[in-house]
Amino acid sequence: MLMKLRWFSRAEDRLDAWVTRQHQERVLDGKTAPVGACPDEAFLESVAQQSKQIALSDPRVDHAANCPLCMRRLLELRSQHQSRRRRLVFTAAVGCCLLIVTAFFVVSWRGANTPHPTDNMAAIPETIDLSNAGTFRSIPSISAEPSPLQSVSLPAALVKVTIMLPRFSRPGQYSVAVTRDQSANDQLAHGDASATGNGDREEVSVDLDLRKSKPGFYFLATTHEQDQASYYYPLQIK
Ligand SMILES: [Zn+2]
Repeated sequence: MLMKLRWFSRAEDRLDAWVTRQHQERVLDGKTAPVGACPDEAFLESVAQQSKQIALSDPRVDHAANCPLCMRRLLELRSQHQSRRRRLVFTAAVGCCLLIVTAFFVVSWRGANTPHPTDNMAAIPETIDLSNAGTFRSIPSISAEPSPLQSVSLPAALVKVTIMLPRFSRPGQYSVAVTRDQSANDQLAHGDASATGNGDREEVSVDLDLRKSKPGFYFLATTHEQDQASYYYPLQIK
C-alpha cells in the first residue's frame, strides 16, 4: 500500500514538473498575457526563495507566473538561491567533517597523554646538599682527591631531587644522572633542569626514576651545559 502511494506521488511529481515546464515554456515564449505591472525585485526574490510570507492569492504571483520577464528573473534567482544553498550545505558538511576530525585528534591526543597509573605516583622529594662536597672529576688528568664520602643516599623510588650545587657553581642548564660508574655511558636515571639561585648558591631540581634500581653504590653525576666533564658524587641507593 505504502509502495503504491509512493509510486503515485512520484508519478504525480513527474506530472507536476512536466506541466510546470510546459507552462514555463509558454510563458518564456510570450504566449501568455500577464495582468498588471512587473513587481519589484524584492518580491521576486521572496517568491524564488518560496517565502511563506507570499500569499499565492497575491495578484503579483499570478503576474509573475505569466510574465516572460518576471519568469526569466525568477528562474535566475531560483538557481542562484539553490547554488547558494548547495554551497551552504557543502560548507556546513566540510565544517562538520573538520569538527569530527578535530574531535578525533583531540580525543586521541588526550588518550595518548592520559597519565599511566605509575605517572600519578607522586615523586618523593629529596634534597642533596653538595654545597661542601668534594667531587670526582671525570677527566683522568685532573686527579682531585675526593673528600670523605658524604652520606648521600636516595630511595629506590621515583624521587624529585633538589640538589644544592657546590659553592660557586655556574647558573644555567644542568644534566643530572645516576650512573653505575664514572662515565656517562651507564645511566640508571637522568634529568635536565635549569639551576635556580643567586650565583653563590645554585640549586637544580630534577625527577629521577630509581624504581628499577637495585640497592647499592652508584654515582650522582652533574654536568653543566657548557662543560664537557661531569662531576661525580658517591651515591647510595637504599
Ligand atoms: Zn513581469
